[in-house]
Amino acid sequence: MKRIGVLTSGGDSPGMNAAVRAVVRKAIFHGLEVYGVYQGYSGLINGNIEKLELGSVGDIIHRGGTKLLSARCPEFKTLEGQMKGIEQLKKFGIEGLVVIGGDGSYQGAKKLTEHGYPCVGVPGTIDNDIPGTDFTIGFDTALNTVIDAIDKIRDTATSHERTYVIEVMGRNAGDIALWAGLADGAETILIPECDYDMDDIISRLTRGSERGKKHSIIVVAEGVGSAIEIGKVIEEKTNFDTRVTVLGHVQRGGSPSAADRVLASRLGARAVELLMEGKGGRCVGIQNNKLVDHDIIEALAQKHELDKGMYQLSQELSI
Ligand code: ADP
Repeated sequence: MKRIGVLTSGGDSPGMNAAVRAVVRKAIFHGLEVYGVYQGYSGLINGNIEKLELGSVGDIIHRGGTKLLSARCPEFKTLEGQMKGIEQLKKFGIEGLVVIGGDGSYQGAKKLTEHGYPCVGVPGTIDNDIPGTDFTIGFDTALNTVIDAIDKIRDTATSHERTYVIEVMGRNAGDIALWAGLADGAETILIPECDYDMDDIISRLTRGSERGKKHSIIVVAEGVGSAIEIGKVIEEKTNFDTRVTVLGHVQRGGSPSAADRVLASRLGARAVELLMEGKGGRCVGIQNNKLVDHDIIEALAQKHELDKGMYQLSQELSI
């Protein structure tokens, strides 16, 4: 393989830039040429592609977002769109593609693989919801952003003796809520993977208040439903002064944490190695602190599993 491409797609995440840098530098180190595809699959279809040099990825390792830009591209879900993409790759002489993104982007990479085009998926999303890896690039940074925000909310919650319901991202996965809730000692964590009982939440809050707690923090994963609605029910049932904060897109930005930069560098470089070894149709990840790779089609048939033991622990520690 002499020439590879790299793109970032779907929801951006902090650390995508570090992954792009790793792909470019690792490839050039081994004598390959690298082409950057801008705006994800949309840029692939439109031929928004240019050669990247060592300097093209200078000064980005610490920046959030993605220098290659990202986009949602419904057209790429169609066979016609995928064929247009492959045509562009052939036109530029790109023999293998690294796709950095979430599970939607992996679906696109899977389709290219099924059409016989070698791709390697690199898990870039804050949601931590990709099968075949314990952690995705951006999750650690998002978690730290959430924790920083909850710490600040906690200060004001204590001063005003309030209950706060905080909605965090994660799409259908509860990882951000669970990890942030555990790290922040939240009274209650609501995640889509586990049913909740409103009466149990109310009695937890009441018990806490009776033993003199000055505030309560409830972390809600967006996949559970609207924190605003949940906050209303809690206020009605308890009469506690209750406020709701939806953290929103602040969770997707910011300088990547050290953990995300290191993970992105390792995974991006591994993706290039796989292409050089002629192993397309794979996705890379980290499991039990070891770099791994899986068949992308088989990986996508699996479901990301949240650590239910951690959920149980969070409940035990917040009695
Ligand atoms: P993420 O990668 O963050 O999960 P999306 O779900 O929006 O984000 O997917 C990103 C892009 O991947 C989509 O806009 C589309 O171009 C492509 N994609 C998603 N699903 C498929 C699919 N089933 N087949 C081909 N391409 C897909």
